[in-house]
Amino acid sequence: MIKAIIFDLDNCLAAADETGRQLLAPTFDAIRRANHGTLTEEALERAFEACWGHSLDSVARKYGFSDEMPAAGWAENARAEVKVPMRGYPDIGAIRGLPAKLFLVTSGFRRLQESKVRALAVKSLFERIYIDAIDEPDRKGKQGIFAEILRANGLDPGEVLVVGDDADSEIAAGNRLGIPTMQIRRAGIPRAANATRHIESLTELTGILREYQAGSED
Ligand SMILES: [Mg+2]
Repeated sequence: MIKAIIFDLDNCLAAADETGRQLLAPTFDAIRRANHGTLTEEALERAFEACWGHSLDSVARKYGFSDEMPAAGWAENARAEVKVPMRGYPDIGAIRGLPAKLFLVTSGFRRLQESKVRALAVKSLFERIYIDAIDEPDRKGKQGIFAEILRANGLDPGEVLVVGDDADSEIAAGNRLGIPTMQIRRAGIPRAANATRHIESLTELTGILREYQAGSED
C-alpha cells in the first residue's frame, strides 16, 4: 500500500519557465560574459535550455563550463525570484485529495524555489516541503532527503512513490533507494528509461494508488 508520494516541482507540477524566460536572463547573460570561447554559441544555448530543467551546478558539470562560468551566473541565479502568481500544469489539481501523505522535494536556489512554492500556493497540499538548496552548505541532495522522509515517517521504500520528470535527479535517487518511480511525461522532456513507470498526467495517480493497494491485498 502506498502511504506517501514525493513530488518534484519543476516540469512536474509546473513548467520551469511558466512565468517567462526573462526569469533567468540575467543569469544567462552573466554566464555568457564569462564564457570567453569555452563553449560554442550553440553549446551555450543547449546548456541554457538545460537550465530550465536542471540545477545550474549539474548543467555546469554536464556541459563543461569553466570554473568562472557558473560562478558568474551563481549570484544572479541566487537573486532570481518569481513575483507573480503561477498556475502550474492543468492537471496539478489532481494531487489534491490523493489518499497519501504528499511531500514536495525540489532542487535549486532557495530563494527561487521558495518563490515558486509561494506563487503556486500549494503549501497546504503537502505534509512537508523540502528545498534541496544548491546555494547552501551541507547539501543532502534528493536521495538524502528521500531517505530522511522514509526514516522520519517510518516508511518502507515500497510504501512510497516518487513522481518527477528527471531521469538523473529524482528518478535516479528514488531507484537507488528502491522507491517505485513514476516519470511524468511533460512536453520537451526526454523519456526516462530508468523510471519504474511513465504517466502522461497526474490524474493517473489515483488509479495507480488503487493498483498498488490491490496488489498488497493479494
Ligand atoms: Mg523536475
